[in-house]
Amino acid sequence: MNQENIWTNKGSKNNLKHLAFIENQHVCALCGSDIYIQVFELNLEDLSLTEQASCPSCKIKTRVKNHTLQ
Ligand SMILES: [Zn+2]
Repeated sequence: MNQENIWTNKGSKNNLKHLAFIENQHVCALCGSDIYIQVFELNLEDLSLTEQASCPSCKIKTRVKNHTLQ
């Protein structure tokens, strides 16, 4: 399954806007369900945390994103 990387389209100049759109929506683009977002890792050494979003209906991981805390 390559659906994990569905949001990554490095050949598209509009991919950043696409990503922003998806994140603002917080819904699954495939089925329209609310996606489930969880923070599953907090790294105290560099103050970063990892966010994972998945769709409970499609059973796919829609994104994994690292955030650095200020
Ligand atoms: Zn879905």
